Amino acid sequence: MSDVLNLSGISKSYKRGEPTEVVVLSDASITLKAGEVVGLVAPSGAGKSTLLHIAGLLDTPDSGKVSIFGQDQSGKSDRKRTRTRRQDVGFIYQFHHLLQEFNAQENVMLPQLANGVSKADAVVRAQLLLDKIGLQDRLTHRPAELSGGEQQRVAFCRALANEPKLLLADEPTGNLDPATSDIVFDALMGMVRDTGLSALIATHNMELAKRMDRIVRLENGQLIDV
Ligand code: ADP
Repeated sequence: MSDVLNLSGISKSYKRGEPTEVVVLSDASITLKAGEVVGLVAPSGAGKSTLLHIAGLLDTPDSGKVSIFGQDQSGKSDRKRTRTRRQDVGFIYQFHHLLQEFNAQENVMLPQLANGVSKADAVVRAQLLLDKIGLQDRLTHRPAELSGGEQQRVAFCRALANEPKLLLADEPTGNLDPATSDIVFDALMGMVRDTGLSALIATHNMELAKRMDRIVRLENGQLIDV
């Protein structure tokens, strides 16, 4: 079976004129096998978001190879990369980015509708996911009517709506107080383990990282096993 994600020799700089070029990634490599959950730890500014955006095909590296299910993504058209991203990759950010004018159920339906799922099927899947994460009584609540932890749990359901094979999460509980963070993180890990998907989860929190299968540290632009 192909690896779910393979990043090989990834380099990325932000060029803002010669004196201010920022080298963020420099020969970074990692492989995620099916069902593997990996913690990505690094201080703020080390390049976690850049790495996750490259892994999720939202950004391109200056050099190196990104493969998803053994398929090299470098030479692919934007249309094909978008399709892979929509079908195979789920994203969770530190801030939920839910659409304020839609309720919880609708927010989980939207990526499915964008992916060609019928409205009837999208409702069923949205309710199933929200039910699993304990939000069955919040289906018609809009984001402003939900607590921070509840909003983030809706965002998890949205990320999993299209049954991705790979989950990329950027400080998924970083915006919550420690007690809520623990509960919400448990909910996320429960969903990840239930579905058996592979995940790369960036966190500052070493205690949370220790609950994953292994940990890598982003240091000087490279990924080092901890
Ligand atoms: P992290 O997610 O670990 O906090 P980022 O990947 O967001 O780190 O950023 C890594 C470094 O790259 C930071 O020093 C940041 O200032 C710089 N950076 C990020 N995006 C840009 C950009 N679009 N242009 C210039 N510099 C950037």
